[in-house]
Amino acid sequence: MRALVWHGANDIRCDTVPDPEIEHPRDAIVRVSTCAICGSDLHLHDNVMPGMEKGDIVGHEFMGEVMEVGAEAKSALKVGERVVVPFTIFCGECDQCRRGNYSVCERSNRNKALADKLFGHTTAGLFGYTHLTGGYAGGQAEYVRVPFADRTHIKIPEGLTDEQVLFLGDIFPTGWQAAAQCDIQPTDTVAIWGCGPVGQMTIRSAVLLGAKQVIAIDRVPERLAMAKAGGAITIDFEEESVVERLNELTGGKGPEKCIDAVGMEAHATATIDSMMDRAKQALMLESDRAHVLREMMYVCRPAGTLSIPGVYGGLVDKIPFGMAMNKGLTFRMGQTHVKRWTDDLLNRIQEGQIDPSFVITHTVPLDQGPEMYKTFRDKRDGCIKVVLKP
Ligand SMILES: [Zn+2]
Ligand SMILES: [Zn+2]
Repeated sequence: MRALVWHGANDIRCDTVPDPEIEHPRDAIVRVSTCAICGSDLHLHDNVMPGMEKGDIVGHEFMGEVMEVGAEAKSALKVGERVVVPFTIFCGECDQCRRGNYSVCERSNRNKALADKLFGHTTAGLFGYTHLTGGYAGGQAEYVRVPFADRTHIKIPEGLTDEQVLFLGDIFPTGWQAAAQCDIQPTDTVAIWGCGPVGQMTIRSAVLLGAKQVIAIDRVPERLAMAKAGGAITIDFEEESVVERLNELTGGKGPEKCIDAVGMEAHATATIDSMMDRAKQALMLESDRAHVLREMMYVCRPAGTLSIPGVYGGLVDKIPFGMAMNKGLTFRMGQTHVKRWTDDLLNRIQEGQIDPSFVITHTVPLDQGPEMYKTFRDKRDGCIKVVLKP
């Protein structure tokens, strides 16, 4: 089959590789009809995420048709069914899964020992995302082996297109969780840093959850225009001071809820902290650039909440912890518990409350994937979200 394969920094290729096979009775094989490039895939492309190996198949946002089902998954899944596959693999049976904490499933990471050592406890296995999260082959491919397939799937009713439901596997529930874990009140101002695909889903989620005011921060005109169309007031951080503008929009009080949809590779104008980040990163003294996180802590209203769907990789530097402690800020973060939200979100799509396909700007065949990684990373050609057709 054809698949997008990681060969190193800035080197993802469309290769011919062996077809996947059932390896465990709970597995299924899915023929991918549509997949997408996620913002967090760029961390792999840029090689800032540790734990990748040459030959790894990438991609964790995909859907398709069930082609083959292992003996223990047959009661839950049938050949021919159409499914979206959550990017967080979960067993459905461990303590965490039974609490709905699917992204920290205790059993789905087959490199659990390594993750235990690194993080103190393991997190869930992820598709196409480093050997620290299981080293599972990803979904930017013609076929994928889905482990724990009897639980790790979302069945799609007839009448919905791939484009309407594909993002249920990642960016839609990710944006939703980011907003939901802010416990948005009707009096709240919600500020969202980053208007990439997850930021766009977060904006629409915050609007649907009834925020008084949603403010979106970015510097790319197309992204800001899309944010505005979704109901946000926009701030271009290269044109104006984010802190000043947020204070202006909140009567000097600051937003109650701040969401970091950027993560470890924050771009910023030349502030002291962002220049130090750049210098330390170049010297391999720092893994993550945390400018957005610091700015959120500074501008957030005391007793407010910071929600972090943006991906961080390792240790972050120069975090004003005393400021956060004294302001009484609440931090909520984590990989998405995809399945916790998707029944509700599928209903909302069916009812027409939202059509997540609004975010797609590029649809191309799988073999154009490597080129599209660059287009997406460099935000060229108005690129916000790439969909691939294997
Ligand atoms: Zn993702
Ligand atoms: Zn589990």
